[in-house]
Amino acid sequence: LASREFKRENTVVKVSRNVDIGGKKIHVMAGPCAIESRDLMNDTGKIVKEAGGTILRGGAFKPRSSPYAFQGLGEEGLKYMEEAGEKLHMPTISEAMTVEQVELLSKYCDIIQIGARNMQNYDLLKAAGRQKKPVLLKRGMAATVKELLLSAEYILSQGNYDVILCERGIRTFEDSTRFTMDLNAVPVLKKFSHLPVVLDPSHGIGIREHVGTMAKACIAVGADGIIIEVHPRPEEALSDGPQSLMPEQFRRLMEDLDLVAKAV
Ligand code: PEP
Ligand code: MN
Repeated sequence: LASREFKRENTVVKVSRNVDIGGKKIHVMAGPCAIESRDLMNDTGKIVKEAGGTILRGGAFKPRSSPYAFQGLGEEGLKYMEEAGEKLHMPTISEAMTVEQVELLSKYCDIIQIGARNMQNYDLLKAAGRQKKPVLLKRGMAATVKELLLSAEYILSQGNYDVILCERGIRTFEDSTRFTMDLNAVPVLKKFSHLPVVLDPSHGIGIREHVGTMAKACIAVGADGIIIEVHPRPEEALSDGPQSLMPEQFRRLMEDLDLVAKAV
């Protein structure tokens, strides 16, 4: 179902509020790594919207490497993001790590994210496929492009055809960046599959000063959308501060991305 042989034309995933992913417009999904408070979602949402971002992101359930790190606000956080999305007329995206969270998120958010660490959590994929909201499926950090497509197949085979693929960097021997952004995946995915492809340069490189450069490369290589982490005070962020853009950097980047998009 995910393959180009099955469907020749590109899939356009319809999200709420007239946002289409996989169409002409390149969508920028931006916001903090984690939903930390009501104010953070309202303030960051406003920054994202004013700069031209179209989808508000924020994690309520965070897959942290350490069990002692901030794990997210859970349902309370989802309420804050839903509120901000309503006020700003922006669709929202957040990650589900369990089957129960899929059900909860489908009530509060417009897109359900399956994170890199859960790309091969097959029960979770099936649960995402049983509900109606679009699903953004992130590539596992040690998964091949073919494995990503097979995981997408799990969602599609349950009857949910609104799947967005996401490259977010893989693990290689290189340790001067957080992950290695596999830009090669884009032309390959586009050849093998009709599904839209979103890229996440924030997690891909993991270093604030380089996120913008890689974001431009993502547009040039043919992304249907990108994910950017933004925080009004990254030094205080409870998660992924070192890769979160400051508001002014985000504004400038959005102008540059427009120029790149026009050139390609
Ligand atoms: C995130 O989007 O904040 C996140 C945890 O992503 P990933 O699953 O790619 O690490
Ligand atoms: Mn993050």
